[in-house]
Amino acid sequence: MEEERIMSTNLESIGEERFENSLRPKELKEYIGQNKVKENMKIYIEAAKKREEPLDHVLLYGPPGLGKTTLSNIISNEMNSNIKITSGPAIEKPGDLASLLTNLSEFDVLFIDEIHRLSKSVEEILYPALEDYTLDIMIGKGPSARSIRLDLPRFTLIGATTKAGSLSTPLRDRFGIVHRLELYSIEDLTTIVKRSSKILEVEIEEEASIEIARRSRGTPRIANRLLKRVRDYALVLGDGNITLKITKHALNQLEIDELGLDEIDRKILETMIVQYGGRPVGIEALAVSVGEEIDTIEDVYEPYLIQIGFIARTLRGRQALPSAYQHLGYEMTENRGVSR
Ligand code: ADP
Repeated sequence: MEEERIMSTNLESIGEERFENSLRPKELKEYIGQNKVKENMKIYIEAAKKREEPLDHVLLYGPPGLGKTTLSNIISNEMNSNIKITSGPAIEKPGDLASLLTNLSEFDVLFIDEIHRLSKSVEEILYPALEDYTLDIMIGKGPSARSIRLDLPRFTLIGATTKAGSLSTPLRDRFGIVHRLELYSIEDLTTIVKRSSKILEVEIEEEASIEIARRSRGTPRIANRLLKRVRDYALVLGDGNITLKITKHALNQLEIDELGLDEIDRKILETMIVQYGGRPVGIEALAVSVGEEIDTIEDVYEPYLIQIGFIARTLRGRQALPSAYQHLGYEMTENRGVSR
C-alpha cells in the first residue's frame, strides 16, 4: 500500500473520507471563511427559493481541499434538495450522464468534481440539459437511427475544478454563478481546527490550534489531517489534551516545517534555486526534475508557494524569490545564484 502523504490534498483512503465527512459543516453559517462566496450564495439561494426555481448552475474552482464538495452539500441542504455526487472521469459515456440526469428530481443538485475532465461527447449532452433541461438521445443505429428529446427535472449542476482555464468556453458560459475559492487565512483555519476538535471531543490549547493552522498551507483538508495526527501524539505521549508542546513535537516529527512546507515543496524550491540557478524555469522541466506530475505542481504546490511569496510566475517561467532562498538557508548572490 502506498504510504499516506500527510500534506497531500487528495483523499487517501476510505477511512479518511469517513473522517472528513464527520467534520463537514452542514449549513452555510457553519462554513468558515470564504465570506464573499458565502454572502453571494446566501442571496442566490434565498432568491431561488422565493421564486420557486432551481438555483442557477454553479462553477466552483480553486485548489483541492478548500471546501468545494462541502459547499455543494451545503447548497443542496439549504435548497432542501438532494445531491448526487460524481466526477468527470467517472462519467465515461454519454449514456452514463443520461442515466444520472434522468434519475434526478426537481431542484436536485448534481455535483461533478473535476468537471474539466469530461469528454467532448459527454459535454455535448450536457449543454441542452443545462440550458433548457432537455436531453437529446439517439435511438437505434444506422439509417433508422433517430433522435428523441426528453424533458428533464429542473436541476442545478455544481461543477468543481482545480483549473477554470481547462474548461471549454461553451461549458463555462453555461454557469450562471462562478466562484473562485481562496486559500484560507490562519485565523479561519484556527477556527476550523477548533471546530473540528470540538466535534472530535478533544481539548486543544489556543496556541496549538494556531500552530496547526499556520502549518496547513491555507487548506482545511490539511488542517483537519494534521489535527488527526497531533491527536494521536497527544494520546500516546500526553494525557490526550493537545498542547502547543505536543503539537510542535508531532509536526516536527512529521517533517512539516513552520510554514507547512513538506519535502516536496523543499525539493521544488531547491531545484529552482540550485539546479536552475534562480533563473525562470518552465513547468514541464520543473516537473521532470522534481519527479511530480505537472498538474500536482500547478494545483497543489504552486498556489501556496505563490501565496507566501516564495515563487513568482513570470512570462518566462517560475522563479524562486528571495524569501525562498532565506527560508532554505541559501544566500542569494547578485545574479540570483547561491552560496550557503
Ligand atoms: P474540495 O472539494 O475542495 O477538495 P472538501 O469540500 O472535500 O474540499 O473539504 C475538505 C475538508 O475540509 C472537509 O472535511 C471539510 O470538513 C473541511 N472544510 C472545507 N471547507 C471548510 C470550511 N469553509 N469550514 C469548515 N470546514 C471546511
